[in-house]
Amino acid sequence: MRDIYLSNTLSRNKELFVPINPGRMGIYVCGPTVYGDAHLGHARPGVTYDVLVKLFRHLGYKVRYVRNITDVGHLEHDADEGEDKIAKKARLDQLEPMEVVQNYTLRYHEAMRQLNVAPPSIEPRASGHIVEQIEAVKKILSTGYAYESNGSIYFDVRKYNEDHHYGILSGRNLDDTLEGTRALDGQSDKRAPFDFAIWKKAEPQHIMKWPSPWGEGFPGWHLECSVMGEKYLGHEFDIHGGGMDLMFPHHECEIAQNVASRGTQGVHYWVHNNMITINGQKMGKSLGNFITLPQLFAGEHDKLEQPYSPMTVRFFILQAHYRGTLDFSNEALQAAGKALKRVMAAAKDLYAMAGRKAPVYAYGEQLSAVAPDECIADNAEIKAIFNGVYEALCDDLNTPIALSHIFDAVRIINTVKDGKLKLSENDLAVLCQLFDDVVFGVLGLKDEDNEGGKAMETIDGLMQMVLQNRAEARAEAKVTKDWSKCDQIRDALKALGIQVKDGKDGVTWTLE
Ligand SMILES: [Zn+2]
Repeated sequence: MRDIYLSNTLSRNKELFVPINPGRMGIYVCGPTVYGDAHLGHARPGVTYDVLVKLFRHLGYKVRYVRNITDVGHLEHDADEGEDKIAKKARLDQLEPMEVVQNYTLRYHEAMRQLNVAPPSIEPRASGHIVEQIEAVKKILSTGYAYESNGSIYFDVRKYNEDHHYGILSGRNLDDTLEGTRALDGQSDKRAPFDFAIWKKAEPQHIMKWPSPWGEGFPGWHLECSVMGEKYLGHEFDIHGGGMDLMFPHHECEIAQNVASRGTQGVHYWVHNNMITINGQKMGKSLGNFITLPQLFAGEHDKLEQPYSPMTVRFFILQAHYRGTLDFSNEALQAAGKALKRVMAAAKDLYAMAGRKAPVYAYGEQLSAVAPDECIADNAEIKAIFNGVYEALCDDLNTPIALSHIFDAVRIINTVKDGKLKLSENDLAVLCQLFDDVVFGVLGLKDEDNEGGKAMETIDGLMQMVLQNRAEARAEAKVTKDWSKCDQIRDALKALGIQVKDGKDGVTWTLE
């Protein structure tokens, strides 16, 4: 098995990954709060952890990937104030909160499917783990790191910081955390402004609330990830992922809760992806540069010059290292689209030269091929490309370097196509393997011009039968003058959205 190195936010170092259980990897990633459509900022962790998980599986690990859905407890303002984001949306749209959750969960899944981000192994919801969260609150109270105040339970950060380091992940100390925190206004139930709610008392008008030993309420947002991570991955697990914006306070609070409730920080490698900016600006609803994924795919936003396909977006994300910022602009997306087309055109030529077809992976299908430890290519350059790709991916998931090697392969394929170079059958097979396993497998790219793959081939086979029947019905009708069968076929195809064209070179069909 190849070694893999990851940047660990906790140690601020790139470290060799050593699994807790040999051959297995457990990862928890903070998922979306489902009160609106997924935007560009959701695409990046979606794609990043998808590639990371696919890489681990390809290296031979058995992976359990947990990505949660936040459907309760995420308040509008960080300091435990404001309305629950989902309850607010439900109030505005006059819906049940769970209708909002269901709608945006399905829309999130669809956007991830379009980006070819495979579903996680488990997708737990905060509202489905209230009992476990109440138990965790009890434990934290019993270890003395939380206090009750007016029906809410707050984490006692100062007390915790006397025994442990609050700020260990983000590299802050307690005084730093005071900056940017609003002073208590006297109305607050908290002892100190940096304390955070692990259980919030529900006001009478609050809809999403549950009974607890402290009265009716709901869990604090940070608690769900501590609780669901432990439930599905154990006391300690390998990797915790999420956006850099979650490092503080969300992940810092998770560590504190873990230590307070189970005596261990719980996570061995903290991996954070950086943000996406738009024309150098932070993305935000108030700035009007907030682009949802459906808008991006449809090209429906003032900032968009055209629609961008899901694979263009995926490629754009892979062109940058996940720890660096990524700036969205039309030019950058257009360049990504062109680069992707070059790779796909070369792939087509490569498989044609090798006399085989590109692999078609069903959505969410796990790559069965395990990465070889050695490359068996004859050609030294191909060997270097092959090794370079794996070295880059195993070096903290360096997808831009891996792609630069893929472009070297593209150049070689084009040289062969131009007749200026000949490759052995073995070398062609090695290149095909690289495209099978890495380009289409780990990196999860797809040829969008050949969408549907196997299914489309089958449909085309069926359509040839239908078109044959249509031709026979027509020939018959010319004699009998009874066009009913022809009309029937025409109407049925139309209802299915299939357009048939009778051209010079025969009959063709397209899906509307
Ligand atoms: Zn989380």
